[in-house]
Amino acid sequence: MTQKELYKSLTYERKNVYEKLTDEQKQEMLAFCEEYKTFLNSGKTERECIVMAEKMAAENGFVNMDAKKQLKPGDRVYKINRGKNILLAVIGSEDIEDGVNVIGAHVDSPRLDLKQNPLYESCDLALLKTHYYGGIKKYQWPATPLAMHGVIHTSSGEKINICIGEDENDPVFCVTDLLPHLAKDQMTKKMTEGIEGESLNILVGGMGIYDDDVSEKVKFYILKLLNERYGIVEKDFISAEIELVPAFRARDVGLDASFVGAYGQDDRVCAFTALKSIITTASPKKTAVCVLVDKEEIGSVGNTGMLSRFFDMTLAEIVHKIKGSCDLITYNRVISNTACMSSDVGVAVDPNYEGVTEKRNSAYAGKGLIVMKYTGARGKSESSDANAEFVYQVCKILDDNNIVWQTGELGKVDQGGGGTIAQYVANMNIDVIDCGVPVLSMHSPFEITAKGDIYMAYLAYNAFFKCR
Ligand SMILES: [Zn+2]
Repeated sequence: MTQKELYKSLTYERKNVYEKLTDEQKQEMLAFCEEYKTFLNSGKTERECIVMAEKMAAENGFVNMDAKKQLKPGDRVYKINRGKNILLAVIGSEDIEDGVNVIGAHVDSPRLDLKQNPLYESCDLALLKTHYYGGIKKYQWPATPLAMHGVIHTSSGEKINICIGEDENDPVFCVTDLLPHLAKDQMTKKMTEGIEGESLNILVGGMGIYDDDVSEKVKFYILKLLNERYGIVEKDFISAEIELVPAFRARDVGLDASFVGAYGQDDRVCAFTALKSIITTASPKKTAVCVLVDKEEIGSVGNTGMLSRFFDMTLAEIVHKIKGSCDLITYNRVISNTACMSSDVGVAVDPNYEGVTEKRNSAYAGKGLIVMKYTGARGKSESSDANAEFVYQVCKILDDNNIVWQTGELGKVDQGGGGTIAQYVANMNIDVIDCGVPVLSMHSPFEITAKGDIYMAYLAYNAFFKCR
């Protein structure tokens, strides 16, 4: 062995995905990403992602679990929670008490939500008040075309699905921004204060009905339009869930088209790859489970977030339908032997902002799946910090299956940080580690991921389902 070979064998170095891919795999990667972009274009809200997930599941032999009294190896089932959260399972041949393999991702993304009494008129314009959802940099949202998605119930009890701004012929919406000529005061403010939350108001109208008896003429016209089109009145907004998201579609980025640029890739890139993995999984040894959750961006709270009991209630139902019963001791055995890949995105080193990352321990776009032992902030707070034994087990599966992967962390120490669903999965006494795709411009309206990393995540999740 030469010194050079010895050096190589002793040191850790990240590999680039494209160094490893065969021509055939490259073709598969490109086709996979085309499908991924379609998924992103159709799934711009958590509800729409669950609709897509159910469609993909149904097309691949999954049935609603409620229709099954018993479950046996090879059965493919799913259960949906309030239209925003889904669990899919392929029943394994091993005793379920030996544990299940879970991949968990989230399908909610940062956005602008309409407030419950949103419509008002000012300066002869009609606008909608919003409350942003999740961690956004507010300055990124004005002066960009937005689409309106969501649900609203009419007083007669009809549920209306709203989707305006995605079709080429639809109008779009926007938050207006201040012209630079008059932005002298704004431009000297701190970036966190340059755009205020209460100024993220959506422009929706300007025509008006000019009748002397009506005071708010423009607002009146918008209400009249809404009533004619959807049968709704102003009060119906109170129960509605309406989200404003970027109106543009997923695109290739770069002269070599090596990236996907789109809204909502955190964490739909992991949701899609996890979904594709479970639907292509047939006859696993351990039962394979994919859970897609909501509310991660606001702390995994709520009855559709990871902290809700939906996951363990559904798992208990699966155990019950396999074994004919599920007492607490049996359930505890299942859980204790269960392992989870918390598939959430991680930060990719950005050449424009290298200073916020510590390069030896950060992930890079194009260098494969990120394995994050811990996330968190200020001394690993809010992180599950996976056990060495489990990290080793996962890394070995990845190596044995020729997955290109890398270690990563969420920025350099004390720079900031963040959490994922991993800590809540860990609380159930499940081995869990964050494994996801590196992202540039995370939480912006146009997030960037490398196609090679997307493909590697898919292969990695397949390997986990097959080999653990
Ligand atoms: Zn995320």
